[in-house]
Amino acid sequence: MQFQELPLHAALLRAVQQEGYTTPTPIQERAIPEILAGHDLMGNAQTGTGKTAAFALPILHRLMAKPRLSREPRALVLVPTRELATQVAESFRTYGRHSGLHVAVVFGGVSQSMQVRELRAGIDILVAAPGRLLDLMRQGFVSLRQIEVFVLDEADRMLDMGFIAPIRQVASKIPSQRQTLMFS
Ligand code: AMP
Repeated sequence: MQFQELPLHAALLRAVQQEGYTTPTPIQERAIPEILAGHDLMGNAQTGTGKTAAFALPILHRLMAKPRLSREPRALVLVPTRELATQVAESFRTYGRHSGLHVAVVFGGVSQSMQVRELRAGIDILVAAPGRLLDLMRQGFVSLRQIEVFVLDEADRMLDMGFIAPIRQVASKIPSQRQTLMFS
């Protein structure tokens, strides 16, 4: 199968081509159509298998189909560490470079002022580590009312790290009418 055969927006296929990808990896071939169809999904894939594009591309496609009506994020990706947060946000920016969509990333251990500025500017996709996200929510800098797609990346690692309570807290603030994707 070729990437160009997937029913993705031309702007996304162009970015993928620019990255030099010609064929989807197995997880991409299986997950992209499922996610485009709006189904919830549980994926089991190691880093290096193309897992990030497997969820980033269909999420970008979905968000491109509808204009943003507020400054609040419409997709949330929870990740266990700042390294993964940076990496996942970078992938969304790469694949979404022709999409006009905005990505912000939040994690602890650094000053929050830059992150707050990004949130205020208006974003479509938020990549976050749970602790800092809850901090920013408590201060009223971010609301999850508009979230349509919720991703738990490296969910097993987040549970190992004791993030079950924060994950529950975050999930309780997301509308129940949503698409949920879980990767471990
Ligand atoms: P990930 O598993 O998401 O961390 O991706 C691992 C690496 O594979 C990243 O450097 C991607 O740029 C690359 N990659 C993802 N999908 C493809 C693909 N279909 N063809 C070639 N490389 C890819």
